[in-house]
This record gives sequence, C-alpha cells and structure tokens, in this order.
Amino acid sequence: MALSGLDIYKLLPKTNCKKCGSPTCLAFAMKLAMKKATLAECPDITAEAKKALEESSRPPISLIKLGSGDSAVEIGGETVLFRHEKTFYHQTALAISVDDTLSDAELLARIKEIEDISFERVGQHIVIDMIAVVNKSLSGEKFLSALDKILANSKKAIILVSPDSKTIESALKKCSDKKPLVCGVDSKNLKDMCAAAKAYKVPLALKAGNLEELDKLSQEASSLGAEEIVLDPGFETLRGSLNDLTQIRRLSLKRNYRPFGFPVIMFIKNADKHQVVMNSCTLIAKYAGIIVLDTTEDDVLLPIIAMRQNIYTDPQKPVTVEPKLYKFGSPDKNSPVMVTTNFSLTYYTVSPEIEGSGQSAYLLVTDSEGMSVLTAWAAEKFTPEIIADTMKKIDLDSIVSHKKIIIPGYVAVLSGKLEDASGWQVLVGPKEASGIPKYLKEIWK
Ligand code: SF4
Repeated sequence: MALSGLDIYKLLPKTNCKKCGSPTCLAFAMKLAMKKATLAECPDITAEAKKALEESSRPPISLIKLGSGDSAVEIGGETVLFRHEKTFYHQTALAISVDDTLSDAELLARIKEIEDISFERVGQHIVIDMIAVVNKSLSGEKFLSALDKILANSKKAIILVSPDSKTIESALKKCSDKKPLVCGVDSKNLKDMCAAAKAYKVPLALKAGNLEELDKLSQEASSLGAEEIVLDPGFETLRGSLNDLTQIRRLSLKRNYRPFGFPVIMFIKNADKHQVVMNSCTLIAKYAGIIVLDTTEDDVLLPIIAMRQNIYTDPQKPVTVEPKLYKFGSPDKNSPVMVTTNFSLTYYTVSPEIEGSGQSAYLLVTDSEGMSVLTAWAAEKFTPEIIADTMKKIDLDSIVSHKKIIIPGYVAVLSGKLEDASGWQVLVGPKEASGIPKYLKEIWK
C-alpha cells in the first residue's frame, strides 16, 4: 500500500534543514508521495526510514525482466485487477517447450518450428517470446547439449527447467548474460537454486503444489536473498488454476501481500487442442505472466495470440493505423476511392476485402481517433467536414479524375452533406466489408 504524505513525513528527520531543496520536511514528504522527488535527495534520512520507505514504494507486483536485447521480455508490474480499471501493462509472454529427450535432428527441427512461427494481425507482427528447455531426461549432459543447440539457433529469451541445481548452474555459466528464468525450484532444492540465482543475477520460478506451500516457499526464497521471483502454482485443472491466480492477484494488489507480489508462470499440459486454447485464453485473461505451451500448431497458437492481443490492448488507446491514402494493386486516375476510419480493426477488415476483389483501388483513411465507423460518426469524428478536409489535404482531385467517393453503407446519412462539403459525387458502399468485392464488381464500373 502506498504511504500518504503524512505517513512519509513521520519517517523523515523533521529538521527542516532544506538540504533537499524543499522548504520543510513536510513539503518534501508531499513531493515523495506524489513521486515528484526521490529519497536520495534527503542526505540525513536514517537507514531504517530509508528501508521502510523503499519497501512501501515497491510496486505491488514486481516487474521481472527476462532475456536481452531485442528479445527481452517484461512480465508483472500490473496495478489493477480488471483491465477496464486502467490497463494491463505487460502482456503474457508465450513460451514453447523443448524437451532434452529429443534427438539432435528433432531438437533442431523443433527450434526451427518455433523460430518460424510468425503472425501478422491488426498491423502487429507477432512471434513466440521464449523457449523453455526442459530437463525431461534428468541428465545434465543432455540438458546442456539441448541448451547449446537453442543458443546457437535462437535469440529468444530462455526458460531453464530442471530440478537439479548443479545442472542449472552449468546452464547459467553458458547463458546468464541472456537473463534466463530458472524453473523447477521447490522446497528441496531452494537453497542451492537461490545461491545460483544470486551468483548469476537471474530470476527464479518457485514451484509448489498449493498456495500455502507457495506462500511459504516465497517467504523462504526472499529470506535467502532472492529478489526476482516468479510464482509457479502448477496446473491441474482450469478451475483450480483460475482460483489460484485470482487469489494471488487479489492478495498482491488489494492486501499488498509481498510473498505473492510477483508474476506467475503456467505450464499448460497438452490435452485436447480446444482445451489447450481454452486453458491458455482463460489464464491470459486472469492472470498469467508467462504461458508455456507444448505445441507449435498454428490453429492452437493463433486464437491464443488473438486473445492476448485483445486483453493487452490499452482500452484508453485504441489501436490505430496512419490516416492517409492507401493504395491496393496499381490504382490510376479511374480507380475507385473508398473512405473509412483509422480504427485498426476496421482497416484490417476492409483492406483484405479490397485486396480480395482483385480491383486496384484507393482507400482514404481519416483520423477518427481510432474509432470504428459508426462510433466515430456518433462521436462526430467521422463527419462530412472531416472527410472533405482529408480529401483536400491528400489532394484527391489530382489523384483521380472521376470525382466519386464511396462511403461505408452504415453512414449513408452523410452522403448529402459530404457532396456539399467536397463537391464530389458520393456513392453509398456496402454496410459490411465482406460486400466490397461484389460492390466493386457490380456497381463500380
Ligand atoms: S533534507 Fe531531509 S531533513 Fe532536510 S528538509 Fe529535506 S527532508 Fe527534511
């Protein structure tokens, strides 16, 4: 729980010496509460007060950074239970597991499959974030050999999964610079794993069979000096996991319960494909920081990725495309011009239909602050004046010679005023994007 200005004031020296640049300790306390000053600005603060204040200013769920460079992944750091309260900041990282029991050829093929997974959706390029190398063989040699192959063929962030602290230590010698996450830490190996994590400055994922044990393990890990922690409550049933993750999130945010103030990793066991999708989607919504899957199949991954995109889109900032004139095919002065808004989902619904029509065309995208056609019209962000103004800025008069513009069927009501504002003939297009190919073929001549 964040301290108020008065709570902070009680911990300050109260000498009003002004060394911090504030006229009084109270004024400095108020600045600290508003995050407009830092503790370091008061040279006289006691070590005890500093510790108490630093502890209170820690986020309720720690932000954990994994991987390095372009492949770095951040998880945790969330501040709300429900996305609509503000937003979720760090999307669930998706990992795919690679067992060290695979033959060399199978291992390389699996790594290639993971590397090749790539989707484009609403203008975003999506790939798998992490590879989890699993010590299924329980042989240190096989684990390290599998890790070598991953390191040689992938730059993705890594999850090391082994119950053996010696094996983990040898693995960390090879890849601690990539800041991997160490998994497989339980009450039996906690001490040695904590020592390895401290020595190599990497985070640990703590695994326990139930929340009581996980709570105890987290407290023990903290007392052994582990600061970067991820929680692994295990997955048995979706209902059980949903309950566990909701309790962890509630206790960390509402009660500021430190042992649970960390992101969560979930290993989704392969069952029926639909079950994997349902389990993953549910746990992305509530509240997994990392999901480890054991499949590379597109039809499983795509719905999971789409769900993640939907949940982790900031509700206060709609996904937009750049307002401008887009070209499809090789349009010329006789090609049709359609107009729509810059809501990303609208653009990516309309554009494949234009492409699919086989007709070269222009699509004029206006700035509607990321709203869809009907919403923008209702909010007066897609008005005849805005459309006419955009046409003028783009200089459509010099791009086509026919002076006809096609508006979405849902806003047919704009046609008269748009004709007055632009001097162009307005044609009312189909209501649904799926009607565009037929419209262009039959109506546009
Ligand atoms: S430097 Fe510290 S003791 Fe001095 S006024 Fe500022 S807060 Fe108070």
